[in-house]
Amino acid sequence: MADAAAAAPIVVPQRQLFIDGNWRPPRKGAHIPVINPATEQIIGEIPGATSEDVNDAVKAAKKAFLHNKGQHWSRATGEARGKYLRAIADKVTERKLWLAELETLDCGKPIDEAVWDMEDVAACFEYYAGLAEKLDEIQYAPVELPLQNYKSNILKEPIGVVALITPWNYPLLMATWKVAPALAAGCAVILKPSELASVTCLELASIIQEVGIPPGIFNVITGFGPAAGAPLAAHEDVDKVAFTGSTKTGRSIMEMAARITKPVSLELGGKSPLIVFDDADIDTAVEWAMFGAFWTNGQICAATSRLLLQENIAEKFLKKLADWSASIKIGNPLEKGCRLGPVVSESQYTKILKYISTAQAEGASLLCGGKRPDHLKKGYFVGATVLSDVKPWMQIWKEEVFGPVLAVSTFKTEEEALHLANDSPYGLAGAVISKDADRCKRVSEGLQAGIVWINCSQPTFCQTPWGGVKRSGFGRELGEWGLENYLSVKQLTRYI
Ligand code: NAD
Repeated sequence: MADAAAAAPIVVPQRQLFIDGNWRPPRKGAHIPVINPATEQIIGEIPGATSEDVNDAVKAAKKAFLHNKGQHWSRATGEARGKYLRAIADKVTERKLWLAELETLDCGKPIDEAVWDMEDVAACFEYYAGLAEKLDEIQYAPVELPLQNYKSNILKEPIGVVALITPWNYPLLMATWKVAPALAAGCAVILKPSELASVTCLELASIIQEVGIPPGIFNVITGFGPAAGAPLAAHEDVDKVAFTGSTKTGRSIMEMAARITKPVSLELGGKSPLIVFDDADIDTAVEWAMFGAFWTNGQICAATSRLLLQENIAEKFLKKLADWSASIKIGNPLEKGCRLGPVVSESQYTKILKYISTAQAEGASLLCGGKRPDHLKKGYFVGATVLSDVKPWMQIWKEEVFGPVLAVSTFKTEEEALHLANDSPYGLAGAVISKDADRCKRVSEGLQAGIVWINCSQPTFCQTPWGGVKRSGFGRELGEWGLENYLSVKQLTRYI
């Protein structure tokens, strides 16, 4: 395979901050380089916003939200807003290959996966267009009261100006999970994507400008977390913060929001278990284990990165898992058929290798991967890594790696499997594979997680709720729950 580093740098579009319907440079003129993680080359730059730019964006959003008593957006019908969302979905579909290529260049995601992401982005806008329309049908829903001389009705209103702060692993898709329901609800949005992958979110701003959403209703501020994200989360005129990212940053956002009693929803980290029982079809279970651990280069919050194998199948399972994982196609993520690209940045690369060496030092056995494959001379590539003999006290079992690293342990009984699975501060997802439906039911009820997959790992639909328990956060995205995140409920009670 050709060395990915040999490819010429491809320059991503040069865009500015998108505030009040206009593109403009940051007030302090700082820019952040965009680095292609497959080649380590600089392929562009994004604006580095600071608190002055944040203030401008919040002011624009507030003005747009209240403009003309909100008739043009926040008090328009859901049907009217839904038309804009459908137009966005159409444009994303038209440009999906271009957007996917940008995503791959920016964060290293294999191109086939990036194309699926763009299809999911379009589907998510389309889905929330439908929910925006349904919102009109449920306005003024009556509430049954015990006294006949009172009547009460429920009005669902947009919360107001919302700050959406997102990570780099699914740059446009994670943003869409927030932007689509927030716009459907009638909110004014300020999106702050990750400084490591903002390119496609800026392209979304361009699409939103083209479809004619009123100026100020959608704004994008790019920049570092402390410089741009923190002043946005702490701003007095931001009515809600919806955050996806690490548990550490989520905690600091919650502290900032607490100072002004602002609602937050937090989608945070995870260390999700996949439990495989001895009645499972081994080949199928190995495939799900690999998919759950290595999809998107293992950089998935809900990755099933802890594999629990029933002891009597462990040897056979691990042999297949190691052989198949070692054969995963890794290299230039722009090449069709590539299954593993580079991780997003040099610091992530270094962090992941450190996790692997600490695991080995603590006594885990490296079955495959553990380093950049020899045929790749440059780029932040880490081969699909499987570590066995992992004990629950080891760092690799407890902490989120956010890379293509699968930690494997064994169990004897169902009770022991559940105990090991739940012995984690995180509770985002969990999965169980067994032919015994009763056992799957018991285990899925016993798992402490917001998402449970049965006989699979990772399928995600915009109709089903997404979110965690314990230190994985609270609030739910997607489905009707995702829309409720951006609505406040008002009761109208009259005396007759
Ligand atoms: P991160 O917390 O470093 O950054 C997330 C976002 O927060 C970025 O936009 C960043 O610029 C911003 N930020 C950083 N410091 C900030 C501060 N002090 N104030 C305000 N904003 C700040 O996370 P990441 O490295 O981008 O993403 C990886 C993490 O995201 C992993 O822990 C992963 O599990 C989690 N994640 C969770 C979900 C989910 O749905 N639960 C989905 C994707 C990723």
